[in-house]
Amino acid sequence: MNPLGIPHVFCINKGMSPWTEFTQENVSRVPDGILGLFQLSKGEANISFVGRADDDLRTRLAEHLGQGYTHFQWVQLPWTKETFEMHCRLYHHGGGNKKLDNVDHPYPPEGKLWRCPVSTTSPSLCDLT
Ligand SMILES: [Zn+2]
Repeated sequence: MNPLGIPHVFCINKGMSPWTEFTQENVSRVPDGILGLFQLSKGEANISFVGRADDDLRTRLAEHLGQGYTHFQWVQLPWTKETFEMHCRLYHHGGGNKKLDNVDHPYPPEGKLWRCPVSTTSPSLCDLT
């Protein structure tokens, strides 16, 4: 277990970076122009936000600076479909919108009709937690 209470095996399985202090400087160390996912926490034992970048992970992360998050972790993924599906898994793993700051269930990228791999409903109807 790490200080945030996330089973270490989960981090290894998902290939996430270690939890890092969520500062401008640390965000600037994330590689430029990669696809991926990130999780933000407020220093508690819970993940507060699960985010995805279909274009540039560093830019997406930087958008959340100054919103009260203290730590972040991220993972690079090769394809947008894989990124979307893992976004759904992390979203449900994190407790869905009842627990996370995420307002909506993850949506697939513009123009794609991919479904949530966790739920059998379409993303807009999915309220699994
Ligand atoms: Zn879902």
